[in-house]
Amino acid sequence: MQHKPSARKPKPDSRFPKIQATQCACCGIALPTGAGYDVPLIGAVGPKCALKFASFADALVWVEGRNARVQGGDRVAHVAAHNVVVGLRNLGIEITADAAGVLHVGRLTRKASDVASTYKRVRARFEGNLQAAVTAYGPSIGTTRAVAA
Ligand SMILES: [Zn+2]
Repeated sequence: MQHKPSARKPKPDSRFPKIQATQCACCGIALPTGAGYDVPLIGAVGPKCALKFASFADALVWVEGRNARVQGGDRVAHVAAHNVVVGLRNLGIEITADAAGVLHVGRLTRKASDVASTYKRVRARFEGNLQAAVTAYGPSIGTTRAVAA
């Protein structure tokens, strides 16, 4: 017996490479396809959760390599950039500045599943902060990914 092709589901953001996984690192659901979407620092998540992490990944790209000292801008812009960095730190992501003032995204300071669940809770505010920072400063050096949709 031939079975009909199932109705097409909306495709998750394909920026995240597919990797082998049996469980979503975010919500813990089983991944029956044996594959997940590899979100930076978080790990493999299911297709539904992958949709939620677009801004998270954008923020990491936006921060990495940004020079906090020479970025210019007014007070509003400074606050916007600060909010993005603090937002990531509050989630449990190490952000360091080197001697030249260049920001670097480091490791997680909490379990990935904890970071993911906090992120889901604060996502609206997080996305608002990122959008404000991108509006003030433009996308990150060497990428246009962080342009808010
Ligand atoms: Zn999930």
